[in-house]
Amino acid sequence: MSAIREDLSSTPKSVVDAIDRRASTGQKTLSFEFFPPKDQDAEASLWRNYSKLLEVAPDFVSVTYGAGGSNRETSLAVVDRMARDVFTIGHLTCVGSTFSGSREIIKHFEQAGVGSILALRGDSPRDQPDALEKGELKTAIELVELVRGESSLEVGVAAFPEKHPESPSLQHDAQVLSLKQNAGASYAMTQLFFSVDAYLEIQAKAIAAGTTLPIIPGVMPISNAAKVLRMAEMSGAAVPADLLRRLQNADEDEARVIGMDYTLQFANDLLAAGAPGLHIFTLNFSKAAIEVAKGCGLA
Ligand code: FAD
Repeated sequence: MSAIREDLSSTPKSVVDAIDRRASTGQKTLSFEFFPPKDQDAEASLWRNYSKLLEVAPDFVSVTYGAGGSNRETSLAVVDRMARDVFTIGHLTCVGSTFSGSREIIKHFEQAGVGSILALRGDSPRDQPDALEKGELKTAIELVELVRGESSLEVGVAAFPEKHPESPSLQHDAQVLSLKQNAGASYAMTQLFFSVDAYLEIQAKAIAAGTTLPIIPGVMPISNAAKVLRMAEMSGAAVPADLLRRLQNADEDEARVIGMDYTLQFANDLLAAGAPGLHIFTLNFSKAAIEVAKGCGLA
């Protein structure tokens, strides 16, 4: 990777185009994930941090979408505003959705200048366990097909280095990735995880299953250890035993140093292992994400 990151003069046409353009000069992509804010204070904080993150020139950003469409309006509003500044991926989920409702959102994204859609199944919320069953779209593959059929937008999909919780095996996940590619997906982004070996394994299995999708690792900076450990538990990501022990025995400040040291090493190792870029889960904050971007030579 070159030490100085070139400022690419124009917006990429797609996520794959961003990856290719960076790769052509030996570089990797930098991107950030945001979620729709829950109240006015959170909204002000999001836009403050977003402005700081734009200063490090990400190749693209993405905005999550609540399964069941609970935050539909806020998510679309955040996407609309970001799409004016930077190449934006809108996440979209199947849970509780109808074909016509999904078509409307796809059209909205196209009109807002969104460059790509991350097509996801989502999970039924705890208080509506049958929400997925009740909706018309049941799997991400159906949503990939719908987006490709309805628009010219690029489509990305989810990948799970530590296996999707409902999947019988990593090999099964790799086969599902291959089906997603056949349905029209162009790239994959991973769930949070903490092991380079896990990334190499899902990538090897995906290739063995016939997949050529670039797999962009999702990296969560461990700046607030308690929060990240909670999220890891929820997503089923295994925290390495030694890291867990060190975080649990440290006070808050020490835990931040330990966590961020680990994140930087992990992120650099992922890039050295061939990852096309880093998608940083910002949790709508900027400091830790910028530390990771700079520490990996991506900013
Ligand atoms: P699918 O690909 O539909 O897979 C779900 C399960 O079904 C898997 O076990 C899979 O193996 C199995 N499966 C799928 N198709 C087949 C098939 N044809 N044959 C056999 N088995 C099959 N959730 C949100 O609500 N909002 C978000 O914005 C959001 N963003 C995310 C971003 C990233 C990068 C990632 C990795 C996840 C995100 N999620 C989000 C979470 C995601 O919705 C859940 O992890 C969900 O459980 C799986 O979604 P999926 O798209 O992988 O589903």
